[in-house]
Amino acid sequence: MSDNGSDSALPYGDLHTDILIVGAGPVGMTLLHALSESGKRVLIVDRKPRGAWVSDPRTLALSHGSRQVLERLHAWDNSAATPIREIHVSQAGGFGRTHINASDYELPALGYVMRYSDLAASLDVGIAQNTLIDHCEVADLAIEGDEIHANIDRHGRRLRIVARLVVHAEGSGTQSPDVKVRDYGQRALITDVTTEPTHGHRAWERFTPDGPLALLPNGRNYAVVLTAPQAKAEELAMLNDEAFLDLLRERFGARMRFVSTGPRASYPLALRVRTPLVRPRQVWIGNAAQTLHPVTGQGFNLGLRDAWELAEELHRRTDSGAPETLAAYAARRRVDRYGGAGFTDGIVRLFSNDISPLRYARGIGLLALDLAPPLRHFVARRMIWGARAWI
Ligand SMILES: Cc1cc2nc3c(=O)[nH]c(=O)nc-3n(C[C@H](O)[C@H](O)[C@H](O)COP(=O)(O)OP(=O)(O)OC[C@H]3O[C@@H](n4cnc5c(N)ncnc54)[C@H](O)[C@@H]3O)c2cc1C
Repeated sequence: MSDNGSDSALPYGDLHTDILIVGAGPVGMTLLHALSESGKRVLIVDRKPRGAWVSDPRTLALSHGSRQVLERLHAWDNSAATPIREIHVSQAGGFGRTHINASDYELPALGYVMRYSDLAASLDVGIAQNTLIDHCEVADLAIEGDEIHANIDRHGRRLRIVARLVVHAEGSGTQSPDVKVRDYGQRALITDVTTEPTHGHRAWERFTPDGPLALLPNGRNYAVVLTAPQAKAEELAMLNDEAFLDLLRERFGARMRFVSTGPRASYPLALRVRTPLVRPRQVWIGNAAQTLHPVTGQGFNLGLRDAWELAEELHRRTDSGAPETLAAYAARRRVDRYGGAGFTDGIVRLFSNDISPLRYARGIGLLALDLAPPLRHFVARRMIWGARAWI
């Protein structure tokens, strides 16, 4: 982690930059790297100490397309990535299943699993000390002509950053009337489990009456993402390890033996979509623009495409915050954002219940996916490439 917030590196008076990124999570840092050859001055600020991500317990499924972008940015740590070569999708207590294999797409993997902390660490490498300012809380923003002024509190000191554009990459915490929220009334419980046999690079997505349950190959273990209604998730979080393993055994049957499990963490689940995506001299990317249910593993992948396409727009414009720059960006992102949010929301609503006609329809759907190659290819392309599956 950084120093404990010493101000010695910061000059007194205003700081001037072209682009101020608020939020040094994986999406904000991706944008910073993608702008490195743009010739623009870029600063990134975060409210937490640098390196705080080391304790983030999330594990992310990254698409093949995300790997390609991270490689171009020299931020891909292959040693921290576990390839997913097959995905098996089924529903508990119902017929129908589908199976997607990387070899059908002539790819080494459909995607990769990586810890949030490893992803953040590889993005953090190469960010200069004076480019990332931690312990920063934005107190207010004000437009002054073709500039935006950000007043920032840092250890009781007021700092002013003058920019042409503020990019909000501060994740999903901010409340605003621009953000439409659909609370799913569910929580995701995450943990690691060891199994026998080991995963063989196969991921499992199992739809249960409580909600989806995913096992993602991660190192030698599986990362578990278990979704359940709020009250049930709280009960499951309190189970002792053996009772939790019994629950997995019950949900997966004899497919594998669950041997041990690690600590559990839990996250509330909601769909949040911000409209409009841009305001004068401001733009929102990543979870600050849209937060999705983790069932389709799309959140960061979508945020990375936000960062990449924003950088492409900014590369070719002189005034980073000009209205036409921001309008062009918002128009470019429409299909991917709403497509990703609609696809994920549709899956959550279809699969998070146990109404018997729906269970039957889901079985038909899964069978259809397995039997109809074009449909299965559409779902697979969405996982591999994201937006490119739509167009
Ligand atoms: C259980 C779970 C499983 C998931 N699985 C997947 C998956 O498999 N695949 C996938 O693609 N996505 C997945 N996601 C989603 C993924 O975690 C997010 O989409 C991704 O982390 C978004 O990155 P971000 O940088 O936009 O936001 P964040 O990761 O939230 O980072 C935001 C940063 O902004 C900082 N910040 C916050 N507020 C302020 C402020 N006011 N001022 C300054 N800084 C601020 C924070 O300290 C943080 O560093 C999952 C999410 C959950 C909860």
